[in-house]
Amino acid sequence: MSDAPDHDDIAQRKMQFLFALRSRGVTDARVLTAMEKIDRGPFVRGHFAARAYEDMPLPIACGQTISQPSVVGLMTQALRISPRDKVLEVGTGSGYQAAILSQLARRVYTVDRHKRLVVEANAIFQQLDLTNITAFTADGSFGLPEQAPFDRILVTAAAEDPPGPLLAQLKIGGIMVLPVGQSDAVQSLIRVTRTETGFDYDELRPVRFVPLLEGLGRDG
Ligand code: SAH
Repeated sequence: MSDAPDHDDIAQRKMQFLFALRSRGVTDARVLTAMEKIDRGPFVRGHFAARAYEDMPLPIACGQTISQPSVVGLMTQALRISPRDKVLEVGTGSGYQAAILSQLARRVYTVDRHKRLVVEANAIFQQLDLTNITAFTADGSFGLPEQAPFDRILVTAAAEDPPGPLLAQLKIGGIMVLPVGQSDAVQSLIRVTRTETGFDYDELRPVRFVPLLEGLGRDG
């Protein structure tokens, strides 16, 4: 009986978590269902684990951050994923965003420049039996040419402009969502849609992400 209050407490925090998502504009039923199903707890380690159900970004290994859940929800919603889609995520980080994408898409490829993050995320994907995600260590600015083209691309680190190789790896009719702007300033989340003749751009909201950096991290 001694751990009963803890369970109640977690249930309560999860309810507040979903409430916060809705009140911040995450209204798509499929996205909310995915975020209810995928527990953020395992993706947050160490003494920040207790704050996994708060709507805030938190530090993870390699000096990176797991994004704020409402931002994860809004970005996922903006991608308008359909169940047959093949999705590329640039910036695996904790793996949380990829896990949410895996509930909505047919196949998810995710890349990070830090090998350690990829190894840790892969371990959680295995543990949760998320078999439609493949994570690679790579500089995601170049996309993933062997798996291209993609129906959807999500970039979770900020570049000054949408990287050319990612635009090139988007299918016609495909959508890419990414933060653009200087790394130390407020950035804009934008949605790029590839048309028959070019690209349409929508500005969605201000956001703040870690920068998209060149090359691999020092750990691999
Ligand atoms: N989506 C993550 C949060 C990502 S934080 C989550 O759900 O937890 C941004 C990540 O982008 C960091 O892990 C960082 O290492 C990675 N990153 C930055 N530049 C990169 C690049 N050029 N290629 C691949 N990953 C990159």
